[in-house]
Amino acid sequence: MNGTAFEIKGCTLLLAGERRGARGAAEHFIAQGAQVISADNPESGLVALETANLLVICDAFPQRLQPLREAAQRRGLPVLTRQPVSGSGQITLVGGGPGALDLLTVRAVSVLADADMVFVDRLGPGDLVRKLAPQAVIVDVGKQPGHHKVSQSQIEEQMLTAAKAGSNVVRLKGGDPFVFGRGFEEMAAASKSGIAISVVPGLSSCITVPAAAGIPVTARGVNRVFSVISGHDPLESQQLEQLTGLGGTIIILMGMGTLESTASGLLRQGMAATMPCAIVESGTTGEQRTTFATLATLTATSRARGCANPAVIVIGEVAALPQRLLAEEMANFGASA
Ligand code: SAH
Repeated sequence: MNGTAFEIKGCTLLLAGERRGARGAAEHFIAQGAQVISADNPESGLVALETANLLVICDAFPQRLQPLREAAQRRGLPVLTRQPVSGSGQITLVGGGPGALDLLTVRAVSVLADADMVFVDRLGPGDLVRKLAPQAVIVDVGKQPGHHKVSQSQIEEQMLTAAKAGSNVVRLKGGDPFVFGRGFEEMAAASKSGIAISVVPGLSSCITVPAAAGIPVTARGVNRVFSVISGHDPLESQQLEQLTGLGGTIIILMGMGTLESTASGLLRQGMAATMPCAIVESGTTGEQRTTFATLATLTATSRARGCANPAVIVIGEVAALPQRLLAEEMANFGASA
């Protein structure tokens, strides 16, 4: 720029950053006579850069726009940095349901449509989140560019930073945010920082995935209790004893890694070897698959079929109901044929 003042008036300025936080900067430069074009991600920014003669980066996470900064520098364009406007941002914890798009709630869809930033654990098929939140910056916290999982505290910190900068932040989680979803930790972190946070409940896989396979978690005359338990760590013998004693349906999430110890533990506690069981993998999606077994055959059947996560394990009389219904239908068909 040869020491001469750069003239904002009349220049075409690319303003890169999440739109709500950058709104104040946009108004400022427009008032100075610049023609402002906006981009909230490096990809669209690179295209827009072709016509710009000044780049302004205004984002809570300027690092994510580094490719844009480098491209501008290579082209000899001046690059300015502005702090995004701090405002009354907020966080909404949204339950995304078990997988099928049409099992998202109406409220989840409307909150996503209004989001500035969406933190997801992994992008859904065909980048559905991008379609549901067309204006938002999508942050995949399942994997970082270097394929490292982002830690829970880093996720919380990033969300708080974005909300403090004025963004309308959505944290999208599978199923319901409060069912083994660490939703409450995020809620506590936000309230400790004085950030407004609300929850949109979601359809939890613990009920919907068995249902998608035709298994009711309760059925009149069959059971009047169902327990949902995490199988992430092996169940303790006291838990196995209590679950057996309840005599209801046992629903296990994250339980494939501990399946063998769960099944043998329940047998040890005296549960019938003939107790019906089911494993429902990828429920409500195109890959849904159900495997029926008994408690005695559960581990071997699962292994033979190569059952894997994500799966919901159902142990209890209700697991036999879909097949019983089918058998009755076949018998009726036989009788009427
Ligand atoms: N908050 C989620 C559960 C998170 S724990 C909810 O309410 O559903 C993750 C576990 O959920 C997985 O290991 C698996 O046991 C279960 N799960 C989630 N979605 C599933 C699906 N579509 N099919 C089968 N299991 C699923």
